[in-house]
Amino acid sequence: MKVELISIGDELLIGQTVNTNASWIGEQLAERGLLVHLSTTIRDVENDIIQSIDAGIKRSDVVIITGGLGPTKDDITKKTLCKYFESEQELNREVLERVEFFFESREKEMLEVNVQQAYLPKKALVLNNLVGTASGMWFEKDGKVVISLPGVPYEMKDILLREGFPMLLEKFSVKELYSKTIYLQVIGEAFLADRLAELENQLAAKEVKLAYLPSTGMLRLRFNGKKSDEVVFEIKKSIELIKKEIPVHFYAEYNISLSEVLGKELVHQKKTLATIESCTGGAIAKEIVRIPGSSAYFQGSVVSYNEVVKQNLVHVNEDTIIEYGVVSEEVVKEMAEKGKELLNVDYCVSTTGVAGPDSDGINKVGLIWIGIATNKRTFAKRFHFGNDRERNIQSAVLTALNMLRCELFEIKT
Ligand code: ATP
Ligand code: MG
Repeated sequence: MKVELISIGDELLIGQTVNTNASWIGEQLAERGLLVHLSTTIRDVENDIIQSIDAGIKRSDVVIITGGLGPTKDDITKKTLCKYFESEQELNREVLERVEFFFESREKEMLEVNVQQAYLPKKALVLNNLVGTASGMWFEKDGKVVISLPGVPYEMKDILLREGFPMLLEKFSVKELYSKTIYLQVIGEAFLADRLAELENQLAAKEVKLAYLPSTGMLRLRFNGKKSDEVVFEIKKSIELIKKEIPVHFYAEYNISLSEVLGKELVHQKKTLATIESCTGGAIAKEIVRIPGSSAYFQGSVVSYNEVVKQNLVHVNEDTIIEYGVVSEEVVKEMAEKGKELLNVDYCVSTTGVAGPDSDGINKVGLIWIGIATNKRTFAKRFHFGNDRERNIQSAVLTALNMLRCELFEIKT
């Protein structure tokens, strides 16, 4: 079954409004097992609207339109739909009463243009708007469905959730979906796609789809299939397999942040944490204290951005800096070790590197060392992230937290 979207509005085309309606509808439909195969954005122009609906009805089973149902002159969708479906408008008393009540309860005067909103096409089923004044409409032609909704996001959502989606699922007898998302810390999803290629093929044979949803330093992996005992079993089995195969990257099977996972484990182990940060400038500390209750384990942070601060406050040896350079394994390890003593903690995480965009003249932009000192050992890893300052910092934060997670859970890296 094919669904397509038509977003109407000049403001969408000139970039004044971001088309969040299309992304929300796409996501909601996907969760219900319906895929949007095409999405177009058009002007508030009669001819354009008619052409798009006509083409839409020919190539899709369902056309969902948003925008242009308001009471102002530039809102021409309803009029245009009446023209296309050759339908007159009639006063819908129920809708009129609701629109009147809408204004009464807000102590606002109702205008003639608002009364006009209660005139609806005879050939349409009304989709009730309980949070605004523009009703949604459901048309049918040759077994195809056209739904028209107001552009205001919360009105559109309310109508679809209460009436539109249930009616669509019923009309097209859509089978329930089963989906599960797992959360991974990973830089660049390509290598993972490579490692999971075989699994992906096996899942495809059972008609389970795998979606890669990357963001900086992170990857959400969504499994999706038509609900059946076999599909549920296959998805659960695959998740167990990934957990076993790449425990370094896999950190959760429900929506939780890496810093929250760490926080829970630090509380559980009754351990404390501090950070000594150079190129991340306190961003690791910020991510840690975002979690309520972090004071139970987080002791503090020194942002030793400058060499002098590294020496005077953290007590990194001047000789180490001169001999190895400030962006080096030796310095990052010393930062972690000295920080662990200074702040009297069980774990201390440190960073030093070149976030960019300018190089320090010695090292490449994006080269970052991350160190960890524990009660058992001190170690460091070298990373080369990229050229974008913000993404480098974000990648370093998540990588550092993940290194610490592996240490806490004794996962071999
Ligand atoms: P109104 O009664 O407000 O006139 P309407 O149905 O005529 O509603 P529009 O005039 O197209 O809808 O848009 C109303 C508001 O909703 C505007 O602020 C607009 O920016 C926003 N909007 C419209 N379409 C979208 C969209 N696709 N994504 C996000 N916001 C949107
Ligand atoms: Mg409008």
